[in-house]
Amino acid sequence: MRLNDTDPQISTAIKNELQRQQNAIELIPSENFCSLAVLEALGSVLTNKYAEGYPGNRYYGGTENVDTVEDLARARAKQLFGAEHVNVQPLSGAPANLAAYFALLNPGDTILGMDLSHGGHLTHGHPVTIMAKLFNFIRYKTDRTSGLIDYDNLRQMARENKPKLILVGYSAYSREINYEKIKEIADEVNAYTMADIAHIAGLICAGLMNNPVPLFDVVTTTTHKTLRGPRGGMIMCKAKWAKQIDKTVFPGLQGGPHMHNIAAKAVAFKEALEPSFKNYAEQIMKNAKAFEKRLKEHEFTIMFGATDNHLLLIDLTNKGLTGKQAQITLDAVQITCNKNMIPDDPRNPMDPSGIRLGTPAMTTRGFIESDFELIADLINETLSNPDDLESRENVKKQIMELTKKYPLYPELTTIQRTDLAGRALLSP
Ligand SMILES: *Cc1c(COP(=O)(O)O)cnc(C)c1O
Repeated sequence: MRLNDTDPQISTAIKNELQRQQNAIELIPSENFCSLAVLEALGSVLTNKYAEGYPGNRYYGGTENVDTVEDLARARAKQLFGAEHVNVQPLSGAPANLAAYFALLNPGDTILGMDLSHGGHLTHGHPVTIMAKLFNFIRYKTDRTSGLIDYDNLRQMARENKPKLILVGYSAYSREINYEKIKEIADEVNAYTMADIAHIAGLICAGLMNNPVPLFDVVTTTTHKTLRGPRGGMIMCKAKWAKQIDKTVFPGLQGGPHMHNIAAKAVAFKEALEPSFKNYAEQIMKNAKAFEKRLKEHEFTIMFGATDNHLLLIDLTNKGLTGKQAQITLDAVQITCNKNMIPDDPRNPMDPSGIRLGTPAMTTRGFIESDFELIADLINETLSNPDDLESRENVKKQIMELTKKYPLYPELTTIQRTDLAGRALLSP
């Protein structure tokens, strides 16, 4: 029996989600569209297999095929990033970070990470997380005028607080990172170095952004953002940390690895090793620059001064809108983005001052610079006339044409657009 027969409710929800993805302009920078090959590995019988342990050293029998899968995933990841050791078992970015902290530190140790409103991630010690209960997080910031990481402030905080670990890698910061300088500061105060490259991994392995892997003790990432793989995490480290990292992931933190997911990671890594992936990553960045330029022409305020990657954090204060209002207004014309805090945001996280935009997902669909210029125009039109139904209708029409021009997963189903025909959905 197929899913549609055994469980029509779930089947319908999945079909509706496929349609939503096909019909929307996806600008959430942490999202992407993986290949059909990745989806196929994810939906495979590997989900049935227990394989606690690591290749060649498992607790269960019958692991010859999953050993092949995990060996390939590790070898390809090593090649992609030039890593000495890789662990592909972390279930996602958050558990990868937790494992990395525990591999290097003891509870109560001090971690120097980026202020959360300046682009740090929840898992870098937000008070609501388990990590914040277990470690002592202190924070450096970006410089208000240049928008860049304030390396002098970072050095001063490191000297004063003697952290055991210095953490870089962000979820909203759009500039390049000087890993050499961080390493130099860390060496001066005897701290370990960790980079969380969840957002920019695909740009790094394509050789387009600085790579911390050869320099830092530990580098964590997700596999589902610019890397365009399945939802998951990964840890890369120096050979001297290999045993400690592996022990901390399993049995320290997790049980059986999700082998279907690891297979899908391996497939994505193979895709990322192809020359075409470099073209893809280059286009992500070209699109981000074109998007930035046109948004600036429309007088949107780009935080951190500019983008060097795929991300744009926008302060909407001068537009008379909050991040939440903008997100809802854009949703109504099927432009998907997320509200986001800006540095030292005076507003609260549930209704902050900004929105965060990114180019990876629509670049996967084939968007080039001119498409992102048009999107910037449409965002401007929508946010300038939030209550104008005619303008909204006009924007929706253009978005429908764009999504038709660049089909997503045409092999999976035909694109239905009944929801765009009537006026019923015009008001959010
Ligand atoms: C997305 C992200 C994570 C968390 O990943 P999950 O897979 O959602 O747990 C961690 N760190 C950074 C910098 C991220 O952008």
